[in-house]
Amino acid sequence: MREISHKLAFAHDGKAARYSDVFDPNNGGVQARVALGDKALLDQAVEAAKKAQPAWAAVNPQRRARVMFNFKALVEKNMDELAHLLSSEHGKVIADAKGDIQRGLEVIEFCCGIPHVLKGEYTQGAGPGIDVYSFRQPLGIGAGITPFNFPGMIPLWMSGVAIATGNAFILKPSERDPSVPVRLAELFLEAGLPEGILQVVQGDKEMVDAILDHPDIKAVSFVGSSDIAHYVYKRGVDAGKRVQAMGGAKNHGIVMPDADLDQVVNDLSGAAFGSAGERCMALPVVVPVGEKTAIALREKLIPAIEALRVGVSTDAEAHYGPVVTAAHKQKIENWIQTGVDEGAELVIDGRGFKLQGHEEGFFVGPTLFDHVTTDMEAYKEEIFGPVLQMVRAESFEEAVSLPSKHQYGNGVALFTRNGHAAREFAARVDVGMVGINVPIPVPVAYHTFGGWKRSAFGDTNQHGMEGVKFWTKVKTITQRWPDGGGTGDSAFVIPTMG
Ligand code: NAD
Repeated sequence: MREISHKLAFAHDGKAARYSDVFDPNNGGVQARVALGDKALLDQAVEAAKKAQPAWAAVNPQRRARVMFNFKALVEKNMDELAHLLSSEHGKVIADAKGDIQRGLEVIEFCCGIPHVLKGEYTQGAGPGIDVYSFRQPLGIGAGITPFNFPGMIPLWMSGVAIATGNAFILKPSERDPSVPVRLAELFLEAGLPEGILQVVQGDKEMVDAILDHPDIKAVSFVGSSDIAHYVYKRGVDAGKRVQAMGGAKNHGIVMPDADLDQVVNDLSGAAFGSAGERCMALPVVVPVGEKTAIALREKLIPAIEALRVGVSTDAEAHYGPVVTAAHKQKIENWIQTGVDEGAELVIDGRGFKLQGHEEGFFVGPTLFDHVTTDMEAYKEEIFGPVLQMVRAESFEEAVSLPSKHQYGNGVALFTRNGHAAREFAARVDVGMVGINVPIPVPVAYHTFGGWKRSAFGDTNQHGMEGVKFWTKVKTITQRWPDGGGTGDSAFVIPTMG
């Protein structure tokens, strides 16, 4: 059986006391096993990072940026191989796998400008003969813990900014699709990154706990489900670290009576079912405003959903592929049953979907519920599968209140032709990322990504300037250069510049 191991800066035989299966979601079999590391392995990785980091921080930022430029070119050259590898473990279709890597590369493009970003601030003459300046310094060693659903993009969100700002970075990817992060680390080395600046340690909870407790790891960035995010946040903060911990989501798409319904149906099909709904910025809840909108939308949605093609991840015609594991497929199907038990109308049932020739694959057919209500558990919780729920609202006010009151606050979209309604909505909705006629409002890399409420713990977002702030600490210098002689006076009152 093929074995997937760590990417470390020291010799290691790759053996482990424990392993985890890596599946082939298209066929349902086990395709490899991944070594699960432990505290002793992490200790060695941290030692290697400690040795390498000061010299890397001392490399001028322009040269650090050149590594980013080289890396970007290498990833582009290897895009096909990376996308196939990603798709073979995750199950998303190849074009979507390329998008996963491309969105990560866009953060690397931002990092190519790191010399400009790190320039700092300066005030000449803040007081008599006094200048004040500030700059950002790396934290030292940072770590990232990432989910299965974006094995290219999310490791690059974190590692790109952490490394470009002069830190050493240790990545603990999802044990469900662990290969792409290792390959990215290899490409970083080929791009000129010194050994020890980016290492990949494979593992599960044991490794996560070792990271959270390690005194030399100064910051932890986490993305995954909310309960784990909250746990990581609490334990990491208790250990004195900086922690940003992104959690789950249940994004709503609100459809106003004046929306272009054909466009909405196109947008919804991709946003609810693309990547089999395994996206934290998927749109699994649609809220038509008014009875007429609901009827018209439902009429157009049903044939569009029935026309979706579910296929193996290498099928270029498929709209989406299998979900990641049999356990996840079961969980999604259980949620569908819960929805039925709670009284929602199951309009299209994707359970029991079998793809000819791939009967053991982890496929779930597209599913549509109507008349979902806010008291249902199936509405309150994240399903993370190809399941779209329709919640009918009577008014704009009711529609705004739904995502605002939901426990998650990652993303939301409004479909309308009315600029005033859009402006009101953007200002009032209690959600971190808002799309106006944009179904998946993932901000570009030089802006920043992060939700609200139980979708994110901590106060600093991923990438853009927020990422730079997270991975650096600011130092402020107040200086004067007296011309000698001194006044002989001591100041016993707090100095002011007045
Ligand atoms: P997950 O929470 O199961 O796993 C995330 C990471 O935590 C993995 O590296 C895993 O090894 C580790 N982990 C799992 N159980 C743990 C435990 N008990 N203790 C410590 N560590 C543990 O999440 P997932 O299923 O891999 O990813 C899907 C989830 O991630 C969804 O909830 C999705 O919404 C969320 N997500 C959020 C964002 C965002 O930015 N808000 C982005 C992508 C995914």
